[in-house]
Amino acid sequence: MSKLLIDKDFKRRIEEISDQKLSDCYQCGRCTAGCPFANFMDAPPNQVIRFMQLGLKDDVLDSQGPWFCAACLVCQTRCPRGVDIPRLMEAVRVIHLRAKEGLIDVSEIDKELLLDAPPLALMSAFSKYTY
Ligand code: SF4
Ligand code: SF4
Repeated sequence: MSKLLIDKDFKRRIEEISDQKLSDCYQCGRCTAGCPFANFMDAPPNQVIRFMQLGLKDDVLDSQGPWFCAACLVCQTRCPRGVDIPRLMEAVRVIHLRAKEGLIDVSEIDKELLLDAPPLALMSAFSKYTY
């Protein structure tokens, strides 16, 4: 869990990339209750947002939640505060990818795999692992 390293600049970066205001979230948990992938996440959506609010950079970046997020938008439709949670999850992935962590180099993908893989799986992977 937390190493309690509070990074206010990280919080500002998340807000800047996502264009969301973290203080809008009052931690009601409705996003997590509706998220079809919450059970697979080590930190579900509202917990990731809480880490962000507190500026707990390491907890946010270590969390697998943003990688499980399928951007299905269920959380967003349930949020009473209009928080665009998928954009917050995307902001975490963008920070990783800009640091070249988890980045897919499309030119290095095996051509056989490109021919065999379902187009939807490729689209989904490219939207998460490239920027
Ligand atoms: S539903 Fe909205 S207000 Fe409630 S915890 Fe999730 S992001 Fe925060
Ligand atoms: S958009 Fe992501 S976080 Fe929101 S409900 Fe769907 S999978 Fe969960």
